[in-house]
Amino acid sequence: MDTSALLRALPKVDDALKHPRIAGLLEAHPRQVVVEALRAQIDATRAAILAQSVTDLDPEQLMADVVARVELGAARSLVGVVNATGIIVHTNLGRSILSDAAAAAVQEVAAGYSTLEYDVASGARGSRHAHVEELLCKLTGAEAAMAVNNNAAAVMLGIAALARGGEAIVSRGQLVEIGGSFRIPDIMAESGATMVEVGATNKTHLRDYEKALTPATRLFLKVHSSNFRVLGFTEEVELGQLVALGASHGVPVFEDQGSGVLIDLRPFGLPYEPTVGESIAAGAALVSFSGDKLLGGPQAGILVGRAEIIAKLKQHPMARALRLDKMTLAALELTLRAYLDPERALKDIPTLRMLTMSADESRVRAETLAAAIGASTRALFAVSVEPGVARAGGGSLPLAEIDTVLVALAPVGGSVVDLESSLRLGDPCIVARINDGRLILDPRTLSDAEIDLVASALEQTCARLGEKA
Ligand SMILES: *Cc1c(COP(=O)(O)O)cnc(C)c1O
Repeated sequence: MDTSALLRALPKVDDALKHPRIAGLLEAHPRQVVVEALRAQIDATRAAILAQSVTDLDPEQLMADVVARVELGAARSLVGVVNATGIIVHTNLGRSILSDAAAAAVQEVAAGYSTLEYDVASGARGSRHAHVEELLCKLTGAEAAMAVNNNAAAVMLGIAALARGGEAIVSRGQLVEIGGSFRIPDIMAESGATMVEVGATNKTHLRDYEKALTPATRLFLKVHSSNFRVLGFTEEVELGQLVALGASHGVPVFEDQGSGVLIDLRPFGLPYEPTVGESIAAGAALVSFSGDKLLGGPQAGILVGRAEIIAKLKQHPMARALRLDKMTLAALELTLRAYLDPERALKDIPTLRMLTMSADESRVRAETLAAAIGASTRALFAVSVEPGVARAGGGSLPLAEIDTVLVALAPVGGSVVDLESSLRLGDPCIVARINDGRLILDPRTLSDAEIDLVASALEQTCARLGEKA
């Protein structure tokens, strides 16, 4: 067909709307969306005809392209994925996943009215802080507590409430950046406090803090090096020493713990991290930590500390801007409740369960996955079960190498790159990693149901890749 014949053959929008495939689309999608997709497809085809990159017109194909366009536009953006990476608190994949109890509580308060700010006993207005404050006090030994949007918000609120207009002293070894735009010097500036840096990158002594004290000093800030370690010739001032120095000058210590653990994880072979309770016992006036890192709950920033300080934070104008919604509060309450019985917490909270899973259990899971992998996959890839390393992720426990057992797929005719992308673009999306030319799957971060799902996705993908080859 020549160009003008092709242009004449292009359907009109009104006619195309009567086509059975488009009429079917209109049942499930808004008319305006369908009309826009039709117009866009016709315009694109017209441009292609004029550019002579289209020499033939198939109206059925054009309608199929419109259907694909509408369905792509209607696809949900924020959806679940399967995490086969072995990175437990995977920031890009949503950090911690909730316990069943926490997820059920979110569903309940999301779909119905709730006691968010209602006191059932008196029938009067209640406080949204009440749902988590007592639990946090019980679990950390603090006098008072509150929770805000995330730990970055908690740090900002803490500094603004305690040191705005004054000076806050921080060690040069702790001027950390935690992903993107969260840097301690910037947060300090935004909070309205003047940052006074002391010590050197690798070493800060108590006398450095002492020399920096002035009548304008309002705060000692101690930031946990969550996502990195300075190794070698290093020294940091212990929290207890800083508390003692502060006490003799009326300066409180605010510790940003970052990950924030409530249970000592050393018995499970993980490195020592001070627990929130230990920092409170050592005299920190205020401690902040994330809800969705090692705690294993929803995104939140938790603040625990002395009663008069938490009262000040609650009354600060910024508190309203940073406050938590009911769904997060429900998830946080149920996550914290699990910690009342640490054994239960280790079992019920997915982040803790995956972090503390024994190498034996992870071997059983890897062998289960390998055994479920079928013939189409094995025709293209050699499957092996082998020891490897899992990571806490999320900037937590950066040096921890968690012994795990992996399933590796080495190509024997198949393409690892094609396999990885097919899994990723599938439904559901399965995220795996490629290492040394092999596809690596770590069942530590998979649920039991997901182990079967990954095996069958592999089989479907490889059956398709095998046909193409
Ligand atoms: C992760 C982290 C933060 C930020 O916490 P978010 O909950 O991600 O906002 C702040 N400080 C430290 C030390 C951290 O590790």
